[in-house]
Amino acid sequence: MSDNPYRLPRHVVPSRYDLTLAPDLDAATFAGEETITVEVVTPTAEVVLNAVEIEIDEASVRLGDGEPLAATVTLDAETERATLAFPDELPAGPASLHLRFRGILNDKLVGFYRSTYTDDSGVPRVLATSQMEATDARRAFPCWDEPDAKAVFGVTLVVPDDLQAIANAGEIGREPAGEGKVAVRFADTMPMSTYLVAFVVGPLVATDPVDVDGKPLRVVHPPGKEHLAQFALEVGAFALRYFTDWFGMAYAGDKLDLVAIPDFAFGAMENVGCVTFRERLVLVDPALATQAELQVVVDVIAHEIAHMWFGDLVTMKWWNGIWLNEAFATFMEMTCTDAFRPEWQRWVDFGLARSAAFDTDSLASTRPVEYPVVSPADADGMFDVLTYEKGASVVRMLEQYLGADRFRAGIRRYMARHQYGNTETSDLWDALEAETGEPVRRIAESWIFQGGFPEVTVSVNGGSGVTLAQRRFAFDDGDGDRGAEAERWSVPVVVRHGGDGGEARRVLLDGASTSLPLGGGTPGWVNANAGAHGFYRVRYTGALLDGLLDNLGELSPLERYTVVDDAFAAVLSGSITAADFVGLVERYGDERDLSVWERIVGGLGQIDRLAAGDAATALHTRVAALIGPVRVELGAEARPGDDDRTRTLRGLLLQAAALLAGDEAAVQRAGALLEQFLAHAPSLDPSLASPALLVMAALGDVAMHERLSERFRAAGNPQDRERLLLALSRFRDPEALGRTLSLSLSGDVRTQDAPYLLREAIANRDNGPAAWAFVAENWSDIEKRFPANSLARLVSGIRSLSDRAVAEQAVAFLADHPIPQGEMQVRQHIERMWVTVALAEREAARLASSLA
Ligand SMILES: [Zn+2]
Repeated sequence: MSDNPYRLPRHVVPSRYDLTLAPDLDAATFAGEETITVEVVTPTAEVVLNAVEIEIDEASVRLGDGEPLAATVTLDAETERATLAFPDELPAGPASLHLRFRGILNDKLVGFYRSTYTDDSGVPRVLATSQMEATDARRAFPCWDEPDAKAVFGVTLVVPDDLQAIANAGEIGREPAGEGKVAVRFADTMPMSTYLVAFVVGPLVATDPVDVDGKPLRVVHPPGKEHLAQFALEVGAFALRYFTDWFGMAYAGDKLDLVAIPDFAFGAMENVGCVTFRERLVLVDPALATQAELQVVVDVIAHEIAHMWFGDLVTMKWWNGIWLNEAFATFMEMTCTDAFRPEWQRWVDFGLARSAAFDTDSLASTRPVEYPVVSPADADGMFDVLTYEKGASVVRMLEQYLGADRFRAGIRRYMARHQYGNTETSDLWDALEAETGEPVRRIAESWIFQGGFPEVTVSVNGGSGVTLAQRRFAFDDGDGDRGAEAERWSVPVVVRHGGDGGEARRVLLDGASTSLPLGGGTPGWVNANAGAHGFYRVRYTGALLDGLLDNLGELSPLERYTVVDDAFAAVLSGSITAADFVGLVERYGDERDLSVWERIVGGLGQIDRLAAGDAATALHTRVAALIGPVRVELGAEARPGDDDRTRTLRGLLLQAAALLAGDEAAVQRAGALLEQFLAHAPSLDPSLASPALLVMAALGDVAMHERLSERFRAAGNPQDRERLLLALSRFRDPEALGRTLSLSLSGDVRTQDAPYLLREAIANRDNGPAAWAFVAENWSDIEKRFPANSLARLVSGIRSLSDRAVAEQAVAFLADHPIPQGEMQVRQHIERMWVTVALAEREAARLASSLA
């Protein structure tokens, strides 16, 4: 700790900030003043705290009732610190620091920053808002900007009196401050970390508060969007009650605002009492939204509200613990969404998110979930699929292995013990261990402190049992060291088989292999990831895979999903062929689950990219035969009584028929649906509108592009905007896609969205190389304009590039243009791109002959 130049010394610690900020929205600046109540632990003549891009005009200290003593201030931009030097040593004991300072409202969407929107009469409006995590509170006010330096915040915002002003706690007073301004005072917060501080000032309106067991809940948004705020109020109230019950503990804030911000770099941010969101994750019209669009709103609101307890009330000591914060909130988000709409089958759908984590974790360049974090850039690099999706998968695996009730009891024990405090991740394992008596720390640490995950091989052993063996799974099978003791996991394996009524057996596979007697004679089928909660892949030897495929009806939807997902991973690693995969999914003719079909269609879509000529024709014929009967059964139109997943499945298979099965009638149908959508969207089932858009964009020309981009500019709600952007990335027509590329830098697309539009364009089925060339050509502009956290995400589009020469250019370009805050992710994107290249080269020749 002491040898890390980024960690503050702790001879002076803060307990309270009285902070006044006066933003000037027109000038894009702010002035501030703060009194920090501190304890001098060790006598010192220097106080060191964080500040960057802030001018400190005055700093002094007061001891007891004494006179203020002025400090000399020096700023170090590299370590983002301010040092206050006093002529004499400050004695141990209480003291208060007083600082006056000035800063800028930047347009990089971090710290205290500017966001803009155009109101109904075409007038541009400005707001000032904040995003402090990970280490940007120091851009807004000098502070001990480390998560364990918790303090109480008493905030006052001086603002024009016609603007909304919001902070972490409820408003307790306002006084005139001259020149049409008002000083708005907020209640004291609970003791909390600086990364959770929030201020929002601007021309925004708030819904009437909903009383949630004594805590007022509001949605705050730009004017004119009241009708998009009702769903979030319903979800917010549900989630607040759900978590109060789940944690067995009241919400610690005095109010909760869900605030829609027009420009927002992340998805949402769990500031205590003042959660900020990008608009599409909180504002939605349920009548016009697809299930996926609604579900992500529920997910994200639930996720952020879960953080009010896990993260905000109990907080990691340092940024190496960020993964547990996010993994756990992601896990809780699933449980809450699952309770909110059980028919959405949220845990089955989570399979898709877990697949994304497997995908990155199958690379040599993956990382352990938890790793040492030295600099702020290291912490920024943690916000990725391994933290959120792998982390949540590991938490889910543990929960299922321990039992949901025992797991929750352990979490309650942990929360009660550490509330208002800070923890290491091992504190959580210890609480779970104390509650359950299981070796939780040993199991958890084997998944957290090493990258990758095991593949469990199952083979029949003497006819009455199975042998389970583990070995690290990797796309590139070239490494002879895998399977070594250093790369083992404590794998909580759950086995179910057809021999004795299907009862599940649990075994902790700790070593290289273990035998499991099954009883009941030769098992007809064995499922070695029963429940499919395990974060491992399974390889079945001999006739076991066939046995499983013959008995798909015995498996749960998530188990069936996992069989497909494991098979596609085997295609990527080269252990089976693309044609083998097509043959395997042809056994799924009776499948009716949405998530399973999403995985099947996803895999077939990737194979379709490799198929040309006869191979493409053969693939189309086989896909048509597979999905045809299901489409007939579902019918063309929504039926009364269809649940959301059934309606979504109908749309998915329409899209697959049009794009992967060469079904001309499906294309015609998509065309008619698109016309209906453009003419009068409310008349159309949203679950058909969205796929129709993607189909007609993929097959459309420049004229279609013109119509869709016009509609994008006029979109009336955030979901429409998002859908149209995605569609604009799908044009296979090179000229049309070229227009999408230009649009991304035109100013019509917000900088919060443009990086993702470009990512999708690079992943375009036919125009990926052109999109990549565009990005490379415009890199300096992109780097300047887009939020820093989005650059590595933009580059992730290269994972889909399959041409060796283009891949080599991309590698050379990225070597010359490093992205320091996303260095590790970029390495992963490059390695994953080579997996795509290798797949294309392997399959190109054999696909035609093997599919026909
Ligand atoms: Zn989170």
